[in-house]
Amino acid sequence: MHVTGSCHCGFIAYEAEVDPATARICHCRDCQKLSGSAFRANVRAEIGKFRLLSGEPAIYIKTAESGNKRAHAFCPKCGSPVYTTALEQPAPHNLRIGALDQRAELKPRRRIWCDSMITWSEDISGIEKIGGQ
Ligand SMILES: [Zn+2]
Ligand SMILES: [Zn+2]
Repeated sequence: MHVTGSCHCGFIAYEAEVDPATARICHCRDCQKLSGSAFRANVRAEIGKFRLLSGEPAIYIKTAESGNKRAHAFCPKCGSPVYTTALEQPAPHNLRIGALDQRAELKPRRRIWCDSMITWSEDISGIEKIGGQ
């Protein structure tokens, strides 16, 4: 599936081919911290299927408890997270679904790191809904 994405300020734009079956939610603590949100939704672009169209992301190297290092790319102007990938390239890119134009079509199929889930994020259906602000 062809997708297009950009950061909030528009400095960074990109396109990719993703497999919708890889769309998933991550409840790990790192995703909570790095996104500032309760969880993060990602989809995978396989090797060679991600292309930057404009801008140059800043890179934060995250070291996991396992010692594994990941490159987290974000916009240097607005801070929007864009993707993660391995330090050694070529490697797949995990794209942030919220930054993609096709986000509504990429319903996650799986949830991972559920042991660190914020308990209220398990089910938000009972929280009051308001159409705008
Ligand atoms: Zn930006
Ligand atoms: Zn995570």
